[in-house]
Amino acid sequence: MAIPNNFVLFNQTWAIRTATPGEIGDDLGQCRSDAHEVVLNPNQNEESIRHTLTHELIHCIEQKLHLEMTERQVDLIALGLIDLLRTNPEFIEMIQGE
Ligand SMILES: [Zn+2]
Repeated sequence: MAIPNNFVLFNQTWAIRTATPGEIGDDLGQCRSDAHEVVLNPNQNEESIRHTLTHELIHCIEQKLHLEMTERQVDLIALGLIDLLRTNPEFIEMIQGE
């Protein structure tokens, strides 16, 4: 599974990188909106990384928009988004305008 090294959100470039040992403790991931980076714990399987990254990307959106969502809200939106896009890939093309 290829994980992008960066992404653009609201015209700002963010980095995605692997945590150094001990950097984020037991967290699976962290969204650092001030530094514009998402840090991922490498000690998880592909499905977990997929969910963690989606979770952190939703944090990036909700923090930038000052939505103050709870961890549970972020996590369940991530779950729904993964299911929706995995089951209906045509939505991705539609959003891209293809
Ligand atoms: Zn979270």
